[in-house]
Amino acid sequence: MKVKEVLSALEKFAPLPLQESWDNAGLQVGLTEAEVSGALLCLDVTEKIIDEAVSKGCNLVVSHHPLLFRGLKTISDLTDVQRTVMKAIEQKVCVVSMHTNMDNAQGGVNFRIAEKLGLKDVTFMSAKKVGDVECGSGVIGTLEEPMAADDFVLKVKKAFDVECALTNELLQRPVSRVAICGGAGDFLLDEAVAAGADAFITGEMHYHQYFGYEQKIQICVIGHYQSEQFTTEVFRDIIQKECPGVRTEIAKTCTNPIYYL
Ligand SMILES: [Zn+2]
Repeated sequence: MKVKEVLSALEKFAPLPLQESWDNAGLQVGLTEAEVSGALLCLDVTEKIIDEAVSKGCNLVVSHHPLLFRGLKTISDLTDVQRTVMKAIEQKVCVVSMHTNMDNAQGGVNFRIAEKLGLKDVTFMSAKKVGDVECGSGVIGTLEEPMAADDFVLKVKKAFDVECALTNELLQRPVSRVAICGGAGDFLLDEAVAAGADAFITGEMHYHQYFGYEQKIQICVIGHYQSEQFTTEVFRDIIQKECPGVRTEIAKTCTNPIYYL
């Protein structure tokens, strides 16, 4: 199967028009007519990721975050992005990225997070239509059983394997409805409150945004990388279903640049 066929399977699931206006999802680097020898699935494309792809015999990297965001005027050894582009081309590795189009897609990043928490009746928090495709930036669903806020935070930490979560003061009522936006989802906090969510899970938020939500909603911030870690499983499932014969490997290289010490 060719790169362009895998790309089109991914885009069928998460059409590019679903991406935000500032984004650059889709093909990043490489030859679309190349036969795929294997696909390495990751969140970020770095030189180490290209090395891992080569060592595993994968000439395709599928990432969540685009390698190219702002465009390059120089391709040299001066920045990590430029070096990664050079290495991908030298090693004949093709790079495709499925970013906010995958965040916004039915069954995408946020639905997978909801699944990991065992939420039921999961829907877009506020669905919109792009063409005739329903999409949205966050999801909301209901826990199997309402639970105390401290138990809820523990459940989230366990599901995402994080040692700590940043929260506001513990909610004094049980948590039942949970709103989710992986990555930098702070822009959806008010929408989550308006949608009647008891808790809001996202990857990162600024200090000032925590103010004023005491006893309104349980904020639970688990780290950008950690919140999106299961995106590679979404990629794997799409490729396994739509591209039989294409080997998939979830990257072992952790590209999270943030350490908790
Ligand atoms: Zn992200």
